[in-house]
Amino acid sequence: MIVSQQKPLEEILGYLDGEDRIFILGCNGCAEASGSGGPAQVAEMQSILEENGKNVIGSMVIDFLCQKALVKSRLRPRTEQVGAADSILIMTCGLGVQAVAASVNKICHPACDTVNIGGSRGEWKGKERCLECGECLLEYTGGICPLTACTKGLINGACGGASNGKCELDPERDCGWELIYERLKQKNQLDKLKILIPPKDYSKMMPSPKMMSTSLWALEQIDQEEKIE
Ligand code: SF4
Ligand code: SF4
Repeated sequence: MIVSQQKPLEEILGYLDGEDRIFILGCNGCAEASGSGGPAQVAEMQSILEENGKNVIGSMVIDFLCQKALVKSRLRPRTEQVGAADSILIMTCGLGVQAVAASVNKICHPACDTVNIGGSRGEWKGKERCLECGECLLEYTGGICPLTACTKGLINGACGGASNGKCELDPERDCGWELIYERLKQKNQLDKLKILIPPKDYSKMMPSPKMMSTSLWALEQIDQEEKIE
């Protein structure tokens, strides 16, 4: 499972500034289990946006937003509604936001940060990658994660070493920042490149104090010397 938590409301409303018609997407997988993007949170977000003067023209909760084929097949019957939206607010983890942004030619806003719980877990094996950095940047990069798409994990644009669209460190890999540029251009969002992203707080990649107060975490801390012989 991937754990996500909703971003502060002011941040979400800031993303939606200047936009009126919003379509909300939630996820019935990990986001529902996280309490960040299931049916209840989507309904609550709809009310909050409407209280703040937005016109929510539709919403949908899909089983797994990280699965692009599923996203496309479920949204196809709603093409007209989605097409009429100024943007889509996506209430799920970084993988889900990336998968939707790759599947729908609309401005896609992340409503959540993906947080790290360590270990490994079952998840859909797609092309998208998320480092669970705790402060999602997909708002500024067209829905492509700069930490995983760029070999150096640069967050403020390309290093300048790319050649024919390929990374200077790995000619087999597309330059992540060229992909981000093309995606922003496709979504008419090139102005996002003018926003300077402050240095990341990598302490947010650590499990949260809330996570570390659970009994599961306490079990993890049992004296490592105590082993079953
Ligand atoms: S910026 Fe990248 S690593 Fe951080 S939460 Fe978003 S998708 Fe995940
Ligand atoms: S060439 Fe592109 S992907 Fe490679 S390190 Fe530079 S900006 Fe990142």
